Amino acid sequence: MLQQVNGHSSGSDAQGRESLREDLQEFLGGEVPLHQLDDLTKVNPVTLETVLRCLQARYTADTFYTNAGCTLVALNPFKPVPQLYSPELMREYHAAPQPQKLKPHIFTVGEQTYRNVRSLIEPVNQSIVVSGESGAGKTWTSRCLMKFYAVVAASPTSWESHKIAERIEQRILNSNPVMEAFGNACTLRNNNSSRFGKFIQLQLNSLLVPRDHQMTGAAIQTYLLEKTRVACQDSTERNFHIFYQICKGASADERLQWHLPEGAAFSWLPNPERTLEEDCFEVTREAMLHLGIDAPTQNNIFQALAGLLHLGNIRFADSGDEAQPCRPMDDGAVRTSALLLRLPEDPLLETLRIRTIRAGRQQQVFRKPCSQAECDTRRDCLAKLVYARLFDWLVSVINSSVCADPASWTTFIGLLDVYGFESFPHNSLEQLCINYANEKLQQHFVAHYLRAQQEEYAVEGLEWSFVNYQDNQTCLDLIEGSPISICSLINEECRLNRPSSAAQLQTRIESALAGSPCLGHNKLSPEPSFVVLHYAGSVRYHTVGLVEKNKDPIPPELTRLLQQSQDTLLKVLFPADPEEKSQEEPSGQSRAPVLTVVSKFKASLEQLLQVLQATTPHYIRCIKPNSQGRAQALHREEVLNQLEACGLVETIHISAAGFPIRVSHRTFVERYASLRRLHPRAPPDPHSPSPDEGHSAPWALVDFAVSRLRISFGSLCPQRGTGQLEVVR
Ligand code: ADP
Ligand code: MG
Repeated sequence: MLQQVNGHSSGSDAQGRESLREDLQEFLGGEVPLHQLDDLTKVNPVTLETVLRCLQARYTADTFYTNAGCTLVALNPFKPVPQLYSPELMREYHAAPQPQKLKPHIFTVGEQTYRNVRSLIEPVNQSIVVSGESGAGKTWTSRCLMKFYAVVAASPTSWESHKIAERIEQRILNSNPVMEAFGNACTLRNNNSSRFGKFIQLQLNSLLVPRDHQMTGAAIQTYLLEKTRVACQDSTERNFHIFYQICKGASADERLQWHLPEGAAFSWLPNPERTLEEDCFEVTREAMLHLGIDAPTQNNIFQALAGLLHLGNIRFADSGDEAQPCRPMDDGAVRTSALLLRLPEDPLLETLRIRTIRAGRQQQVFRKPCSQAECDTRRDCLAKLVYARLFDWLVSVINSSVCADPASWTTFIGLLDVYGFESFPHNSLEQLCINYANEKLQQHFVAHYLRAQQEEYAVEGLEWSFVNYQDNQTCLDLIEGSPISICSLINEECRLNRPSSAAQLQTRIESALAGSPCLGHNKLSPEPSFVVLHYAGSVRYHTVGLVEKNKDPIPPELTRLLQQSQDTLLKVLFPADPEEKSQEEPSGQSRAPVLTVVSKFKASLEQLLQVLQATTPHYIRCIKPNSQGRAQALHREEVLNQLEACGLVETIHISAAGFPIRVSHRTFVERYASLRRLHPRAPPDPHSPSPDEGHSAPWALVDFAVSRLRISFGSLCPQRGTGQLEVVR
């Protein structure tokens, strides 16, 4: 059929026909080999199987990025592909008149967002949501995008502060090794797994020349650091990288100073013999220096971290008498950790071993020796408390180092690197929070993209049968709704503080929320649990320990102990209370309402969503081809699970069922005008007031396409909507 069109003539006719041929071939897809199909909306039919086959063919051909309508799918190559991320390629995407015509790439998304903020009418903030399971490549992608902006939005001047003159984009890039050293760890799924969520706002000055916004600063927000890792690691995993960095990279003097002799064993440092490329102390130090954290402050930080390692070596033995506190099994560990944290030794030991309670009408003070398990919990809690504050402080220091003067930026591009949907054999509060965040992001996706698309069709006057997309509001109501939801019931259990909370929680969820279609049937589980039917699959959450995790109790004596430290850093992290309030832990009844983990997470999520809602979102779904991190190996089952979990097929269906190609009326006319001469002028549109010369060309093409190529075009009515011509298969 195309040959008929190509039959004769030359010059602009031939050009126009060639354009049409290319467009149609690309559009029809069928003629294109599977690995060359760069948009999954073109596979036919769209099923999990066909989508997988296409991705597999592309992966085999070393093609890692594929469009899926409004989403970019990124397969992790698990091998260095330097040519794919070179500054030359960044510039090519940046300079391309239509980057979306180049091969799918994260740089297309980067460039699109960069161009979008430079609308001349008004500044439009952009966001890129990068999701996927652990090890899929989210952090890599975010890092590459930051490098892309550092190249295309480089600032012309250098900053002269902290005695180091450098460009701001360089400093922003320096935040990555620091955040990763303190917030990433080697897990079973990823040697460099981020143990926190991150939203980075890259601030741009877009009031300059329209094609030339410059990065003037950045702001980083983090979510849910997995602080338990500092005191509790699976035997096959590792603690945060920074601990290994100091143990492996310290100089002889520093080893002496930090009490880290070569080969010393620390119980919070599993698998020290495993060396990773992330164990690069020098890179971390250098980056810290560039961020304004000078050598004495760094020294102070590393000394405190060494103090935590020694704290982890403190073991207690039961005294055999309930009235007597437990005995430390190794005085050396107590002494060294007290020394490094600059804490008084006796109060340290006392705080770990004895609980003080204030009770009764007279608020009398009771001192109760802790059991061995309680001592361990208090020791772990102390370490978590210090590490979490240190991490937050670092983020605030980085922010103050990279944050721009509010007057110097007008728009931002936000990069969100969050954990993807998780479902393990054992799921607890962490998974509930992560999956809750993913539900929120999915709803944001649905609301922004799908709804906006349908509304746009309505405005354009295009006839289109609305696809029934899955709205996950019901699931969100179950998790966070009011007055009763899973979150509210977990918080309630915390408040009631009763011993059998795990069983109670299950019963209460099952009875109070029985009406929710998203609460699954909870059969066959010997342990108390409940099942939530998430958009990405059902997950069983175990309730044992969940309420305690939600409380995340910090005995006030621990904070008071840390306030006594003579260490400069700890004094900053734990400033003394302005007025000494209660000296002891109050008894249960008089306890002030504490902000639970769930409540804090919910609040930070709402804030994040507010920011995202005020931006134009873009989505990158990272997929992990296999769980061993091997190059050139795509495991079908594993990829299928991820495709299902991110609801990709549904997204493609909606994108494909909609109009995948959008051409402005003007471009269309310019591109195909030469074809007019081949076909008779179409009859005038009765709804359109006397079409001009330009409008007749598309009509001829419509006529041609409908009659010869059996392609149907959507209604062509530039006078009605915003002048978009929509084309459907
Ligand atoms: P996530 O943040 O999703 O958990 P990462 O971004 O840390 O995963 O990626 C895990 C590992 O996969 C990286 O350490 C790197 O070795 C590899 N990787 C990810 N993306 C790429 C890529 N585009 N090219 C080469 N290797 C990659
Ligand atoms: Mg990561």
